[in-house]
Formats: sequence, C-alpha cells, structure tokens
Amino acid sequence: MSQSIVATAAPPIAQAPRTGRERQGIMISGKRILIVGGGIGGMAAAIRIAEQGGAVTLIDIDPDWRVYGAGITITGPTLRAYRHLGLLDAIKEQGAIAKGSTIFRYDGLRLQQLDEPALEEGLPATGGIMRPKLHRIMQARVNALDVDIRLGLSVSALANRDDGVDVTFTDGTTGDFDLVVGADSIYSTVRRMAFPHMGEAQPTGQGCWRVSMKRPPTLESGEIYLGHRYPAGINRCAADMVYLWMLTPHEHREVHFTDAELFARLQENMADFGGNIAWVRDNMTRNDWINYRPLAAALQPGPWHSGHIVLLGDAVHATTPHMASGAGMAVESALVLAEELDRADSIGAGLAAYQARRFDRCRHVVETSIAVGRMQLAGEPPEVVGGALGAGLHRLADAY
Ligand SMILES: Cc1cc2nc3c(=O)[nH]c(=O)nc-3n(C[C@H](O)[C@H](O)[C@H](O)COP(=O)(O)OP(=O)(O)OC[C@H]3O[C@@H](n4cnc5c(N)ncnc54)[C@H](O)[C@@H]3O)c2cc1C
Repeated sequence: MSQSIVATAAPPIAQAPRTGRERQGIMISGKRILIVGGGIGGMAAAIRIAEQGGAVTLIDIDPDWRVYGAGITITGPTLRAYRHLGLLDAIKEQGAIAKGSTIFRYDGLRLQQLDEPALEEGLPATGGIMRPKLHRIMQARVNALDVDIRLGLSVSALANRDDGVDVTFTDGTTGDFDLVVGADSIYSTVRRMAFPHMGEAQPTGQGCWRVSMKRPPTLESGEIYLGHRYPAGINRCAADMVYLWMLTPHEHREVHFTDAELFARLQENMADFGGNIAWVRDNMTRNDWINYRPLAAALQPGPWHSGHIVLLGDAVHATTPHMASGAGMAVESALVLAEELDRADSIGAGLAAYQARRFDRCRHVVETSIAVGRMQLAGEPPEVVGGALGAGLHRLADAY
C-alpha cells in the first residue's frame, strides 16, 4: 500500500470539552494503566501518570531495559518539557547545555548562529546528553514511583471492552486495564494490532551516521556543517563527550555494516570537511560507538485512540532527526496525555482532547523535518537550510 508520510489532516474530532480542574474529572488516580514501551515517551507517561496516582504497569520488550550508546540533542522545547517533568536539573548536571548552535560551511568557515528561540527564564537554548544517561535519569524516577515494571515482555492480543482493555501478554499471562498506552516506537506492535487505518513509517531517502567520542578541544557548543551533500553536526553531551551526526543519501542497499566498514565509511564521508568534523575524522577510534541508520518518518492519521487504547511518541508521530525534536515531542505528548486524562470526564474525552492538542504540533515537526531533509538532498545552500531549521524551531517555542 502506498502511503503518504504525513497525514494531511486530522479527521473531524468531536471537540472534547476543555473541562478545567473545577469540573469533576476521571482523575487518573486509581486507574489501571498499561504502558507498552519503556523508552522516552513511555517513561515520561509512566512518571506523570504515576505521580497523579494512576496504577501504572510499564512493560518493555528488552529484558535489560537498555538504550544504545548515542548522544541526543535536547533542544530548548525539549528542555522545557523535561523541566515540566521535573528532570531538568539532572539533565543539566549529567549532560551539557549551551547558549546556542553555530552554523559552519562544510570546510570550517563560520557562517552564522542558528536562530534558536529563547523559551523561559533559566532555560538554556539547547543541549545534549548521552542516551544511556538520559535513560538512567528517567528510569531512576520511574523506579522511585509505585510503577509495576515488567521486562522482556510485550503484548500478543488487545481486546477493547466498553470500559477497558483485556490484554494478553507474550508470556501467556493476561491482564485487565482501564487504558493501554502504546509507546513502543516507530514499528509499534500496539499500532499494528489496534489501528488498522494506520501504516508503516516511510523511508525519507537519507541515512544517519553517528559516532560518540571524546570532545574536540575547541568545541564548546553545538556545531552544524552545511553546504556539502552530507550535512553534519557535532553536539556536546557531557563535559568531555560529543556525538557527531552526518546525513547521507540512503543509496546503499545494505543497512548492516561490520564495525570496520562503519568506521571506514564514516571516515571516508568526512574526507572533504574542515573544522571540528576534520578533528573527529582524524581522532575517532574503532572503539568509539558508531552507527548507521536509514531514516523513516510517519505522522499517522487520526484517530490516535481506539476505545481505551492510545498511541504516543514515535508509534504515532515518528520524525527524522533534522529538528532534533522527536524526544521532546514524545515527552510533551506524555505530559499532555496525563493532563487531559486527569481533567476529562471520561477516558474517551481525555483521549480526544489529547489528540486535538498534539496533532498539529507533531505534524509541524514531521513535515518540517522531512522538508529540511529534501532541501539537503536537493543541495539547497546553507542559509536556506539553516533558515528553515530556525523557523521550524521558533514555531515550537509556543506552549504545547
Ligand atoms: C538517527 C536518529 C537520531 C535522533 N536524534 C534525536 C535527537 O538528537 N533529539 C531528539 O529529540 N530526538 C532524536 N531522535 C528521535 C528520538 O530518538 C525519538 O523520537 C524518541 O526516542 C521517541 O521516543 P519513544 O518513546 O516513542 O520511542 P523509544 O524511545 O524508541 O522507546 C521505545 C521503547 O519501546 C520498547 N519496545 C519496542 N517494541 C516493543 C514491543 N513490541 N513491546 C514492548 N516494548 C517495546 C523499546 O525497547 C523501547 O524501550 C532521533 C532519531 C533517530 C532515528
């Protein structure tokens, strides 16, 4: 089935009354909520829903509940969402924050500052952290709450009833929940089971190379290198660590490379570059974490909820890394879901209000990210690509 990457419009939504806290809400308190997927969005949802008194069960397919060793860029809007989740200080402490990012020509000539919006008092414009550290910060908060965590587990069947969902788990056990949240990422099992009107994420024509390694001595904040057919950037993730990203047309048929091939190909891709990209090229080692991943994206058409099952994060709004906003969108979606459920007078109304608040904002991120990727593939000049990125980030400055 051919499918567009971005659903063009949300279907008409029965406008959920914005009831406010003065009306009696279902209040999450005491509700049994299953969250499938303990990544960024699933953990954010578990934290906020458990804080509001929900009886949360969180399952993850990975028995060791790990995350891979890349760094991640945390933009201003993402930092704001983490502030609202109560985790900003830990991220500042264990990651690296910066006033902004600089755009360079690929050969190292400084061009301009990326126009990143200032959001709130005391909130840095951008930052980065190693994914395993971010994971551990979120896991520590989940562990400190009364959340039933079950690992090495997924769902094998979901059956909506009028007032809840009957769940069969992959280990053969069953459960009965008031709500199931699918936060199981881009190739979501929950989506495949319960949302037949949705489709798979579509390739966007680029692949992303990443290496995590020691910091180039002169690098203080984020750097973006444009004007080459391989756009690239470096971001600080800790006092002494950075990660480099590089986007190339996904022209390889193969996706899996040996460690030696990853190292050699990435070095080769950086052959023309100057500045700190050249430093990375000349100083990276085979022991550094290196990865290549073809990019795919999908803004799924509504409804994002079916009975008492709902999707959040990459399961429903998977984006490419161009705006570095996928994690922020997942955390925001989790916060909005908990907020709307808490103040609605039925689960259905809460889920409709959640989608109504999230659809256009997530569409903006997915559409802009895909558009910037297309500009890069078409060889647009740095000021055009940088301008589109800055404008896209500015639109995220609005409250979510
Ligand atoms: C190359 C690349 C670079 C990126 N860089 C950035 C960046 O710099 N900044 C940024 O903000 N975003 C970035 N993103 C996007 C960001 O990583 C995602 O948007 C974010 O992780 C989405 O959160 P999530 O909770 O939906 O999914 P995830 O964080 O992927 O978590 C999903 C969880 O579900 C679990 N799971 C999967 N399947 C099942 C199942 N069937 N049953 C149970 N559990 C399951 C997984 O084990 C995992 O723990 C990048 C993405 C890519 C591809």
